[in-house]
Amino acid sequence: MDNQSLWQDVSAEIAKSTGSAFKFKSIMPVHGGDINTAYRLQGTDTCYFVKLNRADRLFMFAAEVQGLKEIADSQTLRVPDVIACAASGHQAFLVLEYIDFGRFNPSSWRLLGRQLAKLHRVRQPFFGWHRDNTIGSTLQVNEQSNDWPQFWQRQRLGFQLQWAAERGYGGKLQRRGEQLSDSLAGLFSDYRPYPSLLHGDLWAGNVAVDGNSQPLVYDPACYYGDREADVAMTELFGGFGADFYAAYRETWPLEPGYAVRKLLYNLYHVVNHLNLFGPGYLGQAEALIERLLSELN
Ligand code: ADP
Repeated sequence: MDNQSLWQDVSAEIAKSTGSAFKFKSIMPVHGGDINTAYRLQGTDTCYFVKLNRADRLFMFAAEVQGLKEIADSQTLRVPDVIACAASGHQAFLVLEYIDFGRFNPSSWRLLGRQLAKLHRVRQPFFGWHRDNTIGSTLQVNEQSNDWPQFWQRQRLGFQLQWAAERGYGGKLQRRGEQLSDSLAGLFSDYRPYPSLLHGDLWAGNVAVDGNSQPLVYDPACYYGDREADVAMTELFGGFGADFYAAYRETWPLEPGYAVRKLLYNLYHVVNHLNLFGPGYLGQAEALIERLLSELN
């Protein structure tokens, strides 16, 4: 199937979903994502944001759609409207409302902090989600559990370490990682998080503001877990304004011990980066493990 028929199929899905005829005039690449190729699809007077990947990755977009809808239903944080999600020939596509990004100012950071705390007030009775999804392009398992340390041990850290072993990262990473995995419940002896709705992939590349400086989030990897996992990830690669943290803590203060637990939560993403992007992340992963083990001794 050539690209022309792909874009015709995308346009037909847009028309079906919106109830208005859609004919594209131009297709411009959008940069900034890690995993998919993205485009601005311009019609006569509307445009859409379109992500493409291989057809066998349609499940990834389907999970993203459900995450976006779950956040939208919470009425806490803005997310782009979902227009369509389907496959055409060898390609899967996801069509979202196109949002012209603006510039963050201190009050947009404050609003984002408050709204994230409100998202985290949305809870369900178990950790996990109703389906698996992906973190980057890595499978993220979300089996239901009542035991948060065990959830983290098996479905987050353990899953990534196992995959790292399969990719040839053995030795110290595995030896010390296993010791950490066996003892990580010790980090939760006097802290009992409840299952909060999480964005799940909250780095600076997945937050923005619209033309009125109103915040939005996108590209989620939702599940229900400890809210600290979201806050920790904002700190991993940086880029969030100080007003964001002040407003989050004013709305819902973080509990003692966060500074250590955040290392555990970020270790998951660092090992995922090791698995996805290569050995440049090995030293950081090993250092986090050592730091956490020293806290446990
Ligand atoms: P990936 O799944 O490949 O990581 P993203 O969903 O992060 O892709 O999107 C890639 C880039 O496209 C983002 O960094 C952002 O700049 C831009 N973007 C994402 N969603 C929209 C949208 N709805 N409207 C306009 N631009 C968007």
